[in-house]
Amino acid sequence: MKRGRYEAVVIGGGPAGAAAAYTLAAAGRQVCLIDKAQFPRDKLCGGGLTFRAKRAFEQTFGQPWRADLFNTSRDVHFYSRGRFIAAFRSGTPIDFMMRAAFDQYLVQLAERAGAELRLGESVAAIDIERKIVSLRSGEEIAFECLVGADGVNSVVAKTLYGRAFDLAKTAFALETEVPRAMLPLQGDIVEFDFSAARWGYGWVFPKPTTVTIGVGGLHRLNPELRQRFDFYVATKGLRAGDLKVKGQFLPAGDIRREPGRGNILLCGDAAGAVEPISGEGIPFALWTGAAAGRAVAASLARAGTEALTLYRRDYDAIVAPLLRGKRPRWLIYPRLIQPVFGWALGFSRVRDLVFTERRKRHFLSAAASPRPPSPAVSP
Ligand SMILES: Cc1cc2nc3c(=O)[nH]c(=O)nc-3n(C[C@H](O)[C@H](O)[C@H](O)COP(=O)(O)OP(=O)(O)OC[C@H]3O[C@@H](n4cnc5c(N)ncnc54)[C@H](O)[C@@H]3O)c2cc1C
Repeated sequence: MKRGRYEAVVIGGGPAGAAAAYTLAAAGRQVCLIDKAQFPRDKLCGGGLTFRAKRAFEQTFGQPWRADLFNTSRDVHFYSRGRFIAAFRSGTPIDFMMRAAFDQYLVQLAERAGAELRLGESVAAIDIERKIVSLRSGEEIAFECLVGADGVNSVVAKTLYGRAFDLAKTAFALETEVPRAMLPLQGDIVEFDFSAARWGYGWVFPKPTTVTIGVGGLHRLNPELRQRFDFYVATKGLRAGDLKVKGQFLPAGDIRREPGRGNILLCGDAAGAVEPISGEGIPFALWTGAAAGRAVAASLARAGTEALTLYRRDYDAIVAPLLRGKRPRWLIYPRLIQPVFGWALGFSRVRDLVFTERRKRHFLSAAASPRPPSPAVSP
């Protein structure tokens, strides 16, 4: 049986794993990044990057933002049950990208910094006592420190805690990618509909060559999410049966207080580091990944100090706003508050809501375009 040995092993090549591997390699540590996929690989995601993601990227990789990867928008429209409520011009641009291209770029940055990549290799098991990662191919890889950046279904979290996430606290989302030609009036307008799911929302995100339409919400409150999704796409003039729809769990609201054990750390979705209202996870994946990388590098430099002890301070500061963000959900999501929330969005001048003639025309022409009959199920 083949056996490799590294100071640090990172499982997962998403934003969290790439940030951890890059940080470790840049600190001169011998690091191996393992991912079950060959890159470029798809990852179900709205691909929306806010100013936070941009800041997290620049802080982590010290590189300028690659504008060629993104489509940029500032115009956000709010809907309720398919009806337009309000428009809002964001002060900062929102970038949208395909995860295949973005994640490949991040992994390349980690490789250029000196990380060894093992792509197309799936981790089957982890022996915590012997500090060994077993690959499905049968190969074993020994580590001194391990970073679990393997997403929502984390094998590392399952090994440590018996399960990857708490089903009662976790969200589930369905998404489809639609060619831009199928939504000719959409332009670069971003849409949200907080009535599309219970304790969740629907979204339309304009990416470089496609438009992503999604519906997600707290899993236990949305047993009929597929019907809600079909209804939502019908309000956009599309028939769900014509679309390729995929689903995935999203740990929005399931943040780990204890992100690992000893020299095994969790970051990104594996730690539940996702904004509980919006589901935004990429900046927190980058920040926790980089923090895990720094902690492991420092632990290796000062043999004897556990990586988790060094990780805790940074991790707690990164997830503090996420833990605080759980409370305001009660101002948005409960059923009785939804109509008030929709009304407040429609009239709130305080929050810089703008409803210009141009957008009004856009909306009216979109509303006048032919649409299929509403599906029988109306959530
Ligand atoms: C529908 C949906 C829409 C979203 N939209 C947005 C958005 O618009 N903006 C935003 O900021 N966030 C969004 N998110 C959240 C965001 O996608 C995640 O928070 C982010 O991808 C977390 O990054 P990560 O690196 O922790 O995990 P991931 O990106 O999931 O990466 C994990 C990696 O681990 C690998 N892996 C898993 N298991 C193994 C194994 N056993 N062996 C080897 N490799 C393994 C996987 O192949 C994968 O490459 C969305 C999520 C969903 C589900």
